[in-house]
Amino acid sequence: MSLDMSISWRSKQPKQKRCDRCELYYSEFLDKCTHCSDLNEAQLLMLKAKHQESLKHNAKLGKYLFIAAAVIGVLLFVSFLW
Ligand SMILES: [Zn+2]
Repeated sequence: MSLDMSISWRSKQPKQKRCDRCELYYSEFLDKCTHCSDLNEAQLLMLKAKHQESLKHNAKLGKYLFIAAAVIGVLLFVSFLW
């Protein structure tokens, strides 16, 4: 791939900027956030709480996947020994 091609490919990627209000990412071509621009303060708090909850959920899921991978690794190791 030539340098020109990679630059034009990169410029086509949508750029994201972080919203100061709800801390979610949205396209920098938009002048207002798509997540919270039409929310009032109470709805914004709910959105933030939901976002935090999903972050926590993902962290928990990652931990479970890691444990599952470790268990499978041990089982494979044991079956290999026997
Ligand atoms: Zn926002």
